[in-house]
Amino acid sequence: MDKYSLYSIPFQHQFSSILLLQYVQSRKASPGGALVSALEAGKILADIHGISFLENGVMKNNATDRLVREIDDFGMPVYHLLPMTSYKRYNIVSMRGCPFDCGYCASTAIFKKRVRFRSPADVVNEIEYLMDTYGDRHFWFSDDTFTVYHSHTKELLSLLEERNLRIRWSCLTSVNTVKPDLLELMRNTGCKYISYGIESGNSALLQQWSKKIAAKCIVETSHLTHSVGIPHYGFFIFGFPGETWDTVYDTYKLIYDCQMDGGGMNILIPLPGTRMWEFVYEKKKLFDLDKME
Ligand code: SF4
Repeated sequence: MDKYSLYSIPFQHQFSSILLLQYVQSRKASPGGALVSALEAGKILADIHGISFLENGVMKNNATDRLVREIDDFGMPVYHLLPMTSYKRYNIVSMRGCPFDCGYCASTAIFKKRVRFRSPADVVNEIEYLMDTYGDRHFWFSDDTFTVYHSHTKELLSLLEERNLRIRWSCLTSVNTVKPDLLELMRNTGCKYISYGIESGNSALLQQWSKKIAAKCIVETSHLTHSVGIPHYGFFIFGFPGETWDTVYDTYKLIYDCQMDGGGMNILIPLPGTRMWEFVYEKKKLFDLDKME
């Protein structure tokens, strides 16, 4: 730590900065570790790949397409520096990225449709560590699409079973990536609910933004999930370009047909790097960002 001065960092940011430094110094193989090594070697920030930084108050992005392949190498977060006992739910990541191409989704912009997996053993070790250290908690698999590769999901869940880890957990996934046998395994290993990203009940809007699910598949999967006995929720987005009261009604009808256990309704926010952003801000010039408050 003594090679790094924190004095120029505002006091309120120093705690998180110390955490970051301790984290990256312990992981020289990670991008954070590479950053520390580069700084130690006297490189200037502009020469370091894959970072963003402020220069004279202006944000600079050194973009890179290079993604670390072996994400097990990141290791566990430094949990002991966090107020772990005050959290009711712990988030766990078993993979990064999503192979789908939904035009409004930040995942495609950030991970370029590349999926990188943690090994199931590494994920289960982390869960076991958290259980042993902090006691029973609900675990949320915050992967973009938890069930997208069945072999990976099954291996992970089977390992939980094998180690007799009786956890309560939930996940986010897509309706076109589950099958009866997988749902049964999920239920048997403690899945308490599934959140499905659905967005709209209007097939034309879904197709326009490359969400490759049909209304029929959504209803069927919802009924299948009910029949297996797992509660589930739907996430929806209102305000797609082209949304009308008719398309809103399609979504309303879909929600009614599915009889889900709950849902989240969101207003569309175009995210930088997505096709939606390009469409709304660059092609259509619907908004002038400089004038927005
Ligand atoms: S399936 Fe979900 S995570 Fe994957 S691209 Fe579509 S919205 Fe994003």
